[in-house]
Amino acid sequence: MTPYRPHDPFDIDAVASALAGLDVRRDAAELARAGSDYHWYSPVLAQALQGRRPHLMVRPRTEAELERVAAACVRHRVPLTVRGGGTGNYGQCVPLFGGVSLDITWLDAVVALQPGRARVQAGILIHRLNEAAAATGQQLAMWPSTERIATLGGFIAGGHSGIGSLRHGILADAGNVTRLVVLTLEDPPRRVVLEGAEIQCAHHAYGSNGILLEVDVALVPRVEWQHTIALFPRYDTLLHFGLAAGAASVRGELDLFQMSAVERRITPYYQGLRGRLEDEDAMFAQVHPASLAGYAALVQAHGGRAVVAGTEAELLAQGLPSCTECAYNHTTLEALKSDRGVTYLQVAYPAPFSPGLVAAQMARFGDEVFMHHEFSRAGGELVAFALPLVQYFDEPQLRALMASFEADGCAIYDPHTWVLEDGGMKQVDEAQLAFKRQADPLGLMNPGKLRAWDERVLGIPGGGL
Ligand SMILES: Cc1cc2nc3c(=O)[nH]c(=O)nc-3n(C[C@H](O)[C@H](O)[C@H](O)COP(=O)(O)OP(=O)(O)OC[C@H]3O[C@@H](n4cnc5c(N)ncnc54)[C@H](O)[C@@H]3O)c2cc1C
Repeated sequence: MTPYRPHDPFDIDAVASALAGLDVRRDAAELARAGSDYHWYSPVLAQALQGRRPHLMVRPRTEAELERVAAACVRHRVPLTVRGGGTGNYGQCVPLFGGVSLDITWLDAVVALQPGRARVQAGILIHRLNEAAAATGQQLAMWPSTERIATLGGFIAGGHSGIGSLRHGILADAGNVTRLVVLTLEDPPRRVVLEGAEIQCAHHAYGSNGILLEVDVALVPRVEWQHTIALFPRYDTLLHFGLAAGAASVRGELDLFQMSAVERRITPYYQGLRGRLEDEDAMFAQVHPASLAGYAALVQAHGGRAVVAGTEAELLAQGLPSCTECAYNHTTLEALKSDRGVTYLQVAYPAPFSPGLVAAQMARFGDEVFMHHEFSRAGGELVAFALPLVQYFDEPQLRALMASFEADGCAIYDPHTWVLEDGGMKQVDEAQLAFKRQADPLGLMNPGKLRAWDERVLGIPGGGL
C-alpha cells in the first residue's frame, strides 16, 4: 500500500464494522468533542482548524482492543489521531482530514511503582499518578500546569516542561522519561521499546509516529510544597530576583520547584486574586518548607514582600489559586475567561537572560504585550522564557511582534501553527522522521502535522490543509 495522502478517500463504515463490540461513537456531539483541544487560544488556529473533526471516536478498554483499532486503520487506510486529555494548544488532537480519533484515557493502569520510578499506561491522568505516587511517599519530578486534566502520554507526546522543571529540567532531559513502549501502526501492530536517547524519537512528535502505550518516568521523594506569592515594585526587579533565586536553586542553596513571574496587568485576570494583590508584580513560587526562610530573605533583599505562603490545600481553602494554576499557559486561560481579545506568544531569550532587555521590550510594546516569564532548568542550566499575553488585532500584528522579538535575538516557539516543525524546532528532526518510517509507514498518524513527512515522503508542501 502507498502512504496516505491528505484527502484520500476511505471507508469509515468498514473500520466501524471491524471495531464491532468496542466503544465506538459517531454522534455529532461526541465527534465535536473528539475534534477539539485548546487550540482556540490562538485566533489564527481557531479559524484555520474550524470544523475539523473525526468521523469516528473509539475508546479501547484493553491493549488487545487498541491493537484491533491500529490494525483496522491500517487495513482500511484510515487516518488516526490519538487523544489524551485534549489540552494541547496547537491543534495536536484535531484530525485535519477526519478518520478515527483514538481516546486512550481508559488505558490508564499503574503497572509498577518503585523508589524513583513509575511504569504506567500512557492514558493515565497525571494527577491520578501523582496520587498513587503519594501513597508511596513520592511524586512526579514535573507536570504541566494541566496536571488535573492531562494524561502522561499526552504530556510526553505534546508537551515540553512544566511545574518542577526548575528543579528537574525539561521532559527531554536525561532521566525524566526513561522508557517508552510504542505500538506501531501496522497490521498486525508491533511493540517497540525505546530507551535512553531513543526516547526523543517519540517525545514531542504530536502522536505522529506510534501510539505511546507504556511509559516509565522519574519519581522523587514527595514534598509538601509551600505555594508562595511575593510582590515587587518593578517587573525588572522581579526578574533580577528570579535570576538570583534560580541561581541559588541550581547551586543547591534553595530548593525551588516552580517560579513564575507575572506582571501587574495580568494578575487581575486570576480568579481569587482580583482585588487581593496590590499594584505590584508577582512571583508565584513553590518552595521547599526548609527553604522558605531563605527564599523570603532573598525576596526582601531584592525589595520585594512575601505576602502568601501555605500548602496548596491551605491556599485553596482561602479562595486563592494554587501556584500551579498561575503558571505556564494557565495565565492565558485565566485571561481568556474574561477577555476573548487576548492571545499569547512563546519566547526564548538569548543567554545570559537580561531583565533590561525585557524592560526595553515592555516599553516598546506598551499596552500590546503583557509579560509573564517562567524560570526553568534545561540541560542543567537556569533558563527564563516568556509566555506574554498579546492584545490581539490580526495575524500580521502577531507576525510583526514575533519579528520584533526575533530582532532582539529571541527565538519564537510559535503557538499559532499546527505544524510541528514550524512551532519550536524550525528544522527537521531526522530521528523522529526515521522512526515514523518504521512505526507509521503509511503515514496515517495525525496527518498534516509533520512538514518533513509531507515534503520528503509525499512530495507535497507541508502544513497545507
Ligand atoms: C491551561 C494550559 C496549561 C498548559 N500548561 C502546560 C505546561 O505547563 N507544560 C506543557 O508542556 N504544556 C502545557 N500545556 C499544553 C498541554 O496541556 C500539555 O502538553 C498536556 O500535557 C497535554 O496532555 P493531554 O493529555 O491533554 O494531551 P492531548 O492534548 O490529548 O495530546 C497532545 C498530543 O499528544 C498526542 N498523544 C496523546 N496521547 C498519546 C499517546 N498515548 N500516544 C501518542 N500520542 C499521544 C496527541 O495526538 C496530540 O498530538 C498547557 C495547556 C493548557 C490548555
